[in-house]
Amino acid sequence: MALYPWGVESDVSRLKDLIRDIPDFPMAGVVFKDITPLLADPEGFSLVIDSIAGRFEGLGITKVVGIEARGFIIAAPVAHRLGAGFVPVRKVGKLPWQVEAEAYELEYGTGLLELHSDAVAIDELVLVVDDVLATGGTAAATTRLLERLGAKVVGLAFVIELGFLNGRRQLPGRDILSLLHYE
Ligand code: AMP
Repeated sequence: MALYPWGVESDVSRLKDLIRDIPDFPMAGVVFKDITPLLADPEGFSLVIDSIAGRFEGLGITKVVGIEARGFIIAAPVAHRLGAGFVPVRKVGKLPWQVEAEAYELEYGTGLLELHSDAVAIDELVLVVDDVLATGGTAAATTRLLERLGAKVVGLAFVIELGFLNGRRQLPGRDILSLLHYE
């Protein structure tokens, strides 16, 4: 059974039980949401993939874009389930071909995200996937990159949304699916 349509509370709490909170990682004051126990659980992992793919199937999506690095782990099986291709968005300097780059906000300063300039076609329908929606800076930069190349961002999917960081404010009007919410 998939988490979407909503209403399966036992699935939500089962998945939350598979997320480990690590206080003060990677820096003081941050509670890191460790999804490795969820990834290691066969039922939990398939529930996540089925729920995201089920929510976005039938919309004509031909590319699923994963954000480095944990986004890759979720995006690739979702792409397979949708019969779409997989596209990586990576931190600066990792991609070997010609890239488009976009700045994103970090706690101190900015970073750069890169996408191969031929990774998506004009008007191609894409879904963006990452593990956590926190401040939304990374996801917003990814949508800017994709739209600069002419792709259409149909939606964004996350396993976890940290509601108290208001990431949705950076993604106005977007179709956003977050499986697990923390306030
Ligand atoms: P942001 O750009 O602030 O929305 O941050 C999102 C990116 O940072 C995602 O790629 C997440 O993997 C990572 N991230 C941010 N906050 C956390 C957290 N508390 N636990 C785990 N990953 C996080």
